[in-house]
Amino acid sequence: MRLDKYLSNAGTGSRKEVGGLIKKGQVTVNGSVVKSPKVSVTYQDDILIGTEKVNLEAFIYIMLHKPQGVISSTEDEAETVIDIIDHAQAGELFPVGRLDKDTTGLLLITNDGKLAHKLTSPKKHHGKTYEVILRDAVSEEDLDALREGIPLKDFFTKPAEAEKIDEQKVHLTITEGKFHQVKRMFQYLGNEVTGLKRISFASLPLDEKLKPGEYRSLSSEELDILR
Ligand code: URA
Repeated sequence: MRLDKYLSNAGTGSRKEVGGLIKKGQVTVNGSVVKSPKVSVTYQDDILIGTEKVNLEAFIYIMLHKPQGVISSTEDEAETVIDIIDHAQAGELFPVGRLDKDTTGLLLITNDGKLAHKLTSPKKHHGKTYEVILRDAVSEEDLDALREGIPLKDFFTKPAEAEKIDEQKVHLTITEGKFHQVKRMFQYLGNEVTGLKRISFASLPLDEKLKPGEYRSLSSEELDILR
């Protein structure tokens, strides 16, 4: 990463401001003054402005309770999940997979492309559990159909785990993550999803202490579950 980007990502000023500091000779990298903002640096380098060490986190892992009405992408005219995150390195962050605008619940936010790829790879079959609120009551036949697999237009869903919580509420665990998948599965059964919340992702449960719109860093134990 360029030195000026590193410094501004760390919240020390705009690219222009930190560029000025660099040109004035106020920035050292591993003990040597560096006067070019373009110099390439890594998280392992020892970077100081004057005598102040500038720390950037190499990897960031955030659990967000996604609220309704925000988009699961990094940039959009509308508010995105990244806009919610107040972090000096927000520019490096992206969501791991997507939830629909009206879906709430667990969304991981990170800058670790490798882990994100592993977690979203269809080959890894990571389970995603949704609390599904339905317009109509769910029958035993519906649950069996979900467990067997549903023939959607573009693919046949893999067997899902389906647990009836009450007449119009199901906990559904799927291992794929196709566009509007849960909504389409219930639509096939003649029902309609009226509320969708992801309560677990790759065996990591949503921290129920987080209200919609709140987030926190993952603990090392939680990271171990994902790795
Ligand atoms: N399935 C859906 O239909 N929507 C989501 O946001 C996630 C899974």
